Amino acid sequence: MGDDDLNPNQFEVMSSLRIPEGWQPLDPGVVVAVETLLVESLAPLRGRFTAENPLRINKNGLSTVHGCEKFHVEQKRQPFAWNVNTVRGSIVHKAVELLLNWRGPVTPADVVDEAISSIAGNPRESASDFLDQLPPAQMAELRGAVMAAVTNFVDCFPPLKKQWRPLVEYPVLYDLFDKSVQFNTRMDLVIGQPGRRVLIDLKTGRVTPTHRDDLRYYALIETLRTRQAPRLLASYSLDSARLDDEDVSEGVLQAAVRRTAAGALAIAELQLGSREPVVRPGVQCRWCPVAEDCEQGQRHLRVMAGEEEDDDA
Ligand code: SF4
Repeated sequence: MGDDDLNPNQFEVMSSLRIPEGWQPLDPGVVVAVETLLVESLAPLRGRFTAENPLRINKNGLSTVHGCEKFHVEQKRQPFAWNVNTVRGSIVHKAVELLLNWRGPVTPADVVDEAISSIAGNPRESASDFLDQLPPAQMAELRGAVMAAVTNFVDCFPPLKKQWRPLVEYPVLYDLFDKSVQFNTRMDLVIGQPGRRVLIDLKTGRVTPTHRDDLRYYALIETLRTRQAPRLLASYSLDSARLDDEDVSEGVLQAAVRRTAAGALAIAELQLGSREPVVRPGVQCRWCPVAEDCEQGQRHLRVMAGEEEDDDA
């Protein structure tokens, strides 16, 4: 399929993903400089954890600890519980995974049904119990919501050619200090070979500034593991069919190091109990497990609902 066969949405995405003329990979010295900065920033963690009981850092932990630390701590204490929104995201990701390897004509309804069956029928998938107990009406609603996102992907994202080496749910692990600090991530969609890769996060729902931070974290871990920086980062909204992209530069990687190091140090201190968590009200108050007992969170929610003036405004 050539550019002439793409519809306007697909053409727009393809234009953003294409390697620009004259593009050059980052100098290998950047990788060394970024790694040195990370190692120096995390020096206080040396010897505080072990390979058997490591400090594990992932994008969700970084995102929550940079939001409200108390929320971060409390959320870790709670067992993970599926809801319709989170399970929708998982089914959409599974459907995209199937799409990339689908043989023959693609019908979104068939792919969605396969994705639901694959998760519901797999006892190793933690969402299978949640799907099993879903009443038929809610299941129909869920299927409709997944179908909308998958149809958008089929209609608006350019078909991925085999020679682009697309990978879905691509796991990456990098560790420091004899495996006692471990950084991991799983990327939704990766296109291209190391050194010129495009890392794509597929989003159900709005694309927010936090998504850019998530992608920068991916870029950092990919750079340190492959010793080559990726070329481009992109969030693709499956609801609005929009791509938000950012070139990978030395500045982007340094920003990722600063945020990752600050987050990792905070996570370690909270895990070791060496200080109390800082309370920072924000959008997460809406789903915080301790919101009912949190005075600052309650006040923030009242301000958000327009029931109270914001003194800080
Ligand atoms: S309600 Fe808000 S401010 Fe309070 S702990 Fe939860 S997230 Fe933090």
